[in-house]
Amino acid sequence: MSKRSILIQGGKVFDPSQGIRGEERDVLIVDGKIETLEIPGNLTSGNADETILAQNQWVFPGLIDMHVHLREPGLEYKETIASGTLAAVAGGFTSVACMANTLPVNDTAIITAFIKARAKENGHCRVFPIGAVTEGLNGEALSEIGGMVEEGAVAISDDGMPVMNSLVMRRAMEYAKNFQIPVISHAEDYHLAQGGIINEGKMSLELGLPGNPSAAEEILVAREIALCRLTGCSVHIAHVSSKLAVDLIRRAKAEGLPITAEVTPHHLILTDAAVKGYNTYCKMAPPLRSEEDRMAVLEALADGTIDVIATDHAPHAEVDKNQEFEKAPNGIIGIQTALSKTFELVQKEHLSPMRWIESLTQKPAEILNLPHGSLKKGMAADFALFDPQALWNYEERTNLSKSLNSPHLGEKLQGLVTSTWIEGRRVYEQGK
Ligand SMILES: [Zn+2]
Repeated sequence: MSKRSILIQGGKVFDPSQGIRGEERDVLIVDGKIETLEIPGNLTSGNADETILAQNQWVFPGLIDMHVHLREPGLEYKETIASGTLAAVAGGFTSVACMANTLPVNDTAIITAFIKARAKENGHCRVFPIGAVTEGLNGEALSEIGGMVEEGAVAISDDGMPVMNSLVMRRAMEYAKNFQIPVISHAEDYHLAQGGIINEGKMSLELGLPGNPSAAEEILVAREIALCRLTGCSVHIAHVSSKLAVDLIRRAKAEGLPITAEVTPHHLILTDAAVKGYNTYCKMAPPLRSEEDRMAVLEALADGTIDVIATDHAPHAEVDKNQEFEKAPNGIIGIQTALSKTFELVQKEHLSPMRWIESLTQKPAEILNLPHGSLKKGMAADFALFDPQALWNYEERTNLSKSLNSPHLGEKLQGLVTSTWIEGRRVYEQGK
C-alpha cells in the first residue's frame, strides 16, 4: 500500500521544540508522521496526496492540557470522555491528562485501563490518565501506583484533595520516582482553606464571604519543595495562584530542584473582583486572587518560572452550580476557550508567542514524558491550525462540553482553531 501524504501549505509555524518562531513553513506529513518542514517553494501540491492551504493561519504542534477533569467514570451527567475530548480538539488540544477524582476514583489498574479503553473507543484526542496518590483520595493509604503506571498512568495526583499527611506524600514521591513519573500537587492546606470560598482579602470583606488565604497554598508549596529536596522526585505544582507561592517555586528552581508548575487561564485573566456578582462560575479552588497575585503568576509564566498553562477544565452541571455561592462546587470549564483567552495576553504583549506555545506543547510533554508537543521529523503529526484574526462567539450553541460553567460564556473571542489533526488525521474542523 502506498503511503498517504498531506501538505500543509503557507502557514506560519510555531514550534518551540525547534526554535521555529512564526516562520512560513510548508509541512509535509507522510503516513501520519512529520516528514519535513520546508521553506516556501521547495514543495508543491504534486508532492502530496492532499494539500491544505493555511494562508494567514498559524500552525502549532497539537496542544497538551495536563490538567482536566473528564468526569468518566461515574459523573457522566457533567462530562464524558467523548464530550470532554470533543471540546478539547475544538480548542486545539490533541492530548489531555485527566485527573483521578472520578467515581470510582482512579486508584487501581482496572480504572486506569477502563479510562484508556473508553478513550480509545469514544475519545476525540489522546487521553493520558493520572492515577490517585491515595486510595479513594483518602490521603492515607497509597494507591496501586505500579499497576496504574503499567496501564498507562503518566503521573499521580489527588487533585481536588490535598495530601495533608507529609509522610504519605513522602512515600508517594519515593514510589513515583521509582516509576519515573511526577507527583502533581493540589497545594492547599486543607484545614486552613476549609470554609473559605473566595480569596481572603479586601474583596472577601466587602462581599462578606469567608476567605481562603493564599497562605494555605504557600504552606503546601513550601512543604512540597522540602519533600522534593528530600526524595529527588519530580514534583509539579498544579494551578499556582499566589505571588508568594511563585517566589518559593522560583527559589526552588534556582536551587536546581526538579520542580515544575502550571497556571490556569482564569488565574491569568481574572481576579477576585469577578466574584462581585456572586457568580458561581467564578468559584474554584484555589480561588481567583488579587491583581498583585495575577500579575505575579503572569510574569512567572512569561519568564518560565511557571512552565505550563493547564486549564483545570472542571465541568459541573446547572443543578450543581445553580445554588447559593457557599454551596456551589468548585471549578469551571475552559479547554475550548483556553487558547483564545490566553491569546489576549499575547496580543497585549504580556506573553511572547513562543512562550505561549511552549507552555501548551513542549513543556507539558516534557513534564509527563510524552512523545508529543513537537513538529520534529518522525513525530506523530499532531497539530492545530489557528486563525489569529477570526472572531467567534463563545455561547451555548458553540460550547461543546457537556457543561456550561464558564465565566466567559457570551463573550466574543479573538483567535479560532480552524482544524485539529492527530497522526495526520483531521479530528476536528471548525463549523463541521
Ligand atoms: Zn486542583
